[in-house]
Amino acid sequence: MTQRAFRNLYLHIPFCKHKCGYCDFNAYAGMDRLMPDYVDALERELAAARERLPFETLDTVYLGGGTPSLLPAPLATRLLSFIRSTFDLAADAEVTLEANPASTDETKLAAWLEGGVNRLSLGVQGFDGRALAVLERRTDAAQATSAFELARSTGVRNISIDLIYAVPFQSLESWLETLRRGLALGPDHISTYCLSFEEGTLLWRRRAEGRVPEVDPDLQWDHLDAACVELERAGYRRYEVSNWSRPGFESRHNQAYWRCVPVYGAGAGAHSYATDGSAARRWWNVARPREYIAAANPMADGEDLAPRKTAAESLMLGLRTADGMAPPAGFDPELAELVAGGLIARVDGRVVPTRRGMDLHNQIALAVL
Ligand code: SF4
Repeated sequence: MTQRAFRNLYLHIPFCKHKCGYCDFNAYAGMDRLMPDYVDALERELAAARERLPFETLDTVYLGGGTPSLLPAPLATRLLSFIRSTFDLAADAEVTLEANPASTDETKLAAWLEGGVNRLSLGVQGFDGRALAVLERRTDAAQATSAFELARSTGVRNISIDLIYAVPFQSLESWLETLRRGLALGPDHISTYCLSFEEGTLLWRRRAEGRVPEVDPDLQWDHLDAACVELERAGYRRYEVSNWSRPGFESRHNQAYWRCVPVYGAGAGAHSYATDGSAARRWWNVARPREYIAAANPMADGEDLAPRKTAAESLMLGLRTADGMAPPAGFDPELAELVAGGLIARVDGRVVPTRRGMDLHNQIALAVL
């Protein structure tokens, strides 16, 4: 396979102050002392990847987690400057860092900006104390608000916030209030996620024990509908199933995933995707930070995707976005079924999801995959 060059880079920072009850990400509390060795290992992996694989000028860099904002300012500075000295970055490259309000301060903000970060993704999740308690978030509304305002006043021009809906005990009124408080901050981008109960999490166990109630599917639907109404009324466009932005503030990094272009993922548990435009290969690293640090080669495993599977995944992901995509050959029966079901429409030679298709994207995924 003649692989297309990587222009998008993801770095996983797996450290967290505390493991939130709903979280099944590759994230660990109580391992902060590993941070310097972890950054060493990340730099080793990046240098080896740069030698071995085709990279062009980077269009996006994304530091996700975990909690990248937990890295002490000098370590963040070192890592950001290593990225700049190892790769070419486009003059207008989008460089995002995920930050927790509790670990966002003036010193770190200055280090991030100095290191080239120009987009902050702030993990707000909510403003309602009861919902935050169910999620076992250790940050509150006041912290989220002051972190956002501090980031703005320090000069971050592109800020995204995450909000979670359909949390047990969260009423529609409380979710509407959350949306209004989020909008009042004036973010450029908003991601909203329906709370899911992932097996193995504390929240999943609590529900199994009957200590946390099920959320009525009708209420989930009402929360999503309220987000569509409130955010669109405020001038945000739903450009992807879970993402709204002001014009021009769509996440370029996440669009790389939805468009199935190559993304190199470095760090514990990070996934990479390479393609020649027909077939593809995906691989991932060992998940545990200690193993990652100790590994001579951090890759754990991978899989080759045949052209049909590659095309099916790209169709499924392309149909997450409002702009849809030019349909790949060989999917006429599936697409006809989706048009008949009102989940997608054909517009100017493209296939695009309808509002129903966005809300019920899992049905599109089932039909296509
Ligand atoms: S801060 Fe984020 S990544 Fe860390 S445990 Fe909480 S939800 Fe998971």
